[in-house]
Amino acid sequence: MHLDFELERNKLVESLLRRGYISKPEVIKAMMKVPRHIFVPKDIEPYAYHDCPQQIGEGQTISAPHMVGIMVERLDLQPGQKVLEVGGGSGYHAAVVAEIVGKEGHVYSIEYVEALAKRGRENIKKAGLGDIVTIIHGDGSEGLKEHAPYDRIFVTCASPDVPPPLLEQLKDRGKLLIPAGGRRYQTLIYYEKKGKKIIRKDYGGCVFVPLRGKYGFKLF
Ligand code: SAH
Repeated sequence: MHLDFELERNKLVESLLRRGYISKPEVIKAMMKVPRHIFVPKDIEPYAYHDCPQQIGEGQTISAPHMVGIMVERLDLQPGQKVLEVGGGSGYHAAVVAEIVGKEGHVYSIEYVEALAKRGRENIKKAGLGDIVTIIHGDGSEGLKEHAPYDRIFVTCASPDVPPPLLEQLKDRGKLLIPAGGRRYQTLIYYEKKGKKIIRKDYGGCVFVPLRGKYGFKLF
């Protein structure tokens, strides 16, 4: 079967737009640009532009495109920003963010599973974003102190609550998104730091794989 990936991608992004998941021009442009099929295993390529999560190996998943769209829109990304991702996985979400922050910005992405961090790095390189995205193997529930503070932080795995180091590593006026709550079902929660104040908003239900490590779920 031969698929025209560009056409498939255009159809997916149009549907995200029509269904109201995305609306910002920079988000539309970034999702039109990043080749999602590069980020999934070969046998899943034909389904890369379906709006659903996909298996990426090691029991982990790449989030559904609409969830990536929702999170990227809400993060309110600007060119030049320094961003931290917890849960690098395939590298796809980091790639979409990288297209928006551009060469003046940077995305540091932490992945707990070494084999996935390695594959994620290869995917990012194939997408031509190796200068903007750095994937690090480690426990992202503790953040990444060496490059802190960050303009934006986002977590792509389910956490019992927001890990304190992540709020500490956020700049003043910085924004953070995290799926928090139960191991199976969570709420997407938004935090914004304003001086000593922290603004918190709930953005509705979602389902992510569990966060592991120090502030994660203790089931592993
Ligand atoms: N953003 C990814 C989706 C990854 S799914 C993408 O675009 O493909 C969530 C990922 O979080 C999994 O790969 C899982 O291994 C990773 N993860 C779980 N706990 C973690 C932790 N404490 N630190 C870093 N990564 C973690």
